[in-house]
Amino acid sequence: MKSSVLLIYTGGTIGMHTDPESGALVPFDFHAIYEEFPALRRLGANIEVLPFEPIDSSNASSELWVRLAEKIAENYDRFDGFVVLHGTDTMSYSASALSFMLHNLAKPVVFTGSQIPIGVLRTDGRENLITAIEIAATKDSKGRAAVPEVSLYFQNRLFRGNRTTKQSAEELSAFASNNYPPLAEVGVSIHYNEQFIHRPEKGAEFSVQTALERDVAVIKIFPGLTESILRAMLASGAKGVVLETYGAGNAPTKEWFIGALREAIERGVSVVNVTQCSNGEVNMDIYETGVALQKIGVISGRDMTTEAAVTKMMYVLAQTDSPEERAKLLKESICGEIGR
Ligand code: ASP
Repeated sequence: MKSSVLLIYTGGTIGMHTDPESGALVPFDFHAIYEEFPALRRLGANIEVLPFEPIDSSNASSELWVRLAEKIAENYDRFDGFVVLHGTDTMSYSASALSFMLHNLAKPVVFTGSQIPIGVLRTDGRENLITAIEIAATKDSKGRAAVPEVSLYFQNRLFRGNRTTKQSAEELSAFASNNYPPLAEVGVSIHYNEQFIHRPEKGAEFSVQTALERDVAVIKIFPGLTESILRAMLASGAKGVVLETYGAGNAPTKEWFIGALREAIERGVSVVNVTQCSNGEVNMDIYETGVALQKIGVISGRDMTTEAAVTKMMYVLAQTDSPEERAKLLKESICGEIGR
């Protein structure tokens, strides 16, 4: 029997074509996807399309994530897999958010998009779309979904969504997963890297958690950051802060810097430390500059991306009011976003 896939279109470059009258790039009506893209009929999957009002993903917010999670939940039993077409700019944030919101996922949710509109001859969108659908529809020899995770497919590689980051505004290979290997690699055939694919526990029931706390700030430190700017950011009402530090998690040891963070933590703000480097991880045991942060209760985000840390913070803050519980959840892996 053919697998069935729900294709949710949220907007972004992939959904654009050239308007025959004006010659400008405009979003096309995804209901007419088969006319735009007849090759889809030849795929071994039944595809149903659910178009949202298209947005540039720079306008994505937690409302979009809640809507996506709810639509996937409503349609969970009817489909074998889901493909989410999304603008590339914030795709890693949305894929990360969904990974925390969809619990015990046993079906694929594959995000994809393109750097060149699908209606342009040289588009990268056609291959991204076709292969994402194929992956969403694929079952293994035991009849289980090949990749029951929130993933992101781009330019021949399937990544765990919450490990990705947009790395290029120019190259067709727009995404990287620097701290976790690809879940699948695509050449003449699709090679699934079984050992890196996460599966839900047997019998665990799928559910959705849509509560998110939006009062979160990202503070990227830089040489020359002043006390008044740091204090203003910490006094912004944020209940959680993602602190982007240098190298292996290092930050200034100046008394005002540590003092301002200590006061925020004492007020109940959760502070998680991620590195500004594009790969490697935070280890606050190595240098005095990291140890000082650890001592005041800054939580190590280890090898998490900023995208995963921000969305995890939103998710965790909405789970519990206890700072200890929050710290525990932030440190541990919820869905493969941290550590190995
Ligand atoms: N600005 C677009 C978006 O993120 C870029 C893209 O889709 O590639 O919606």
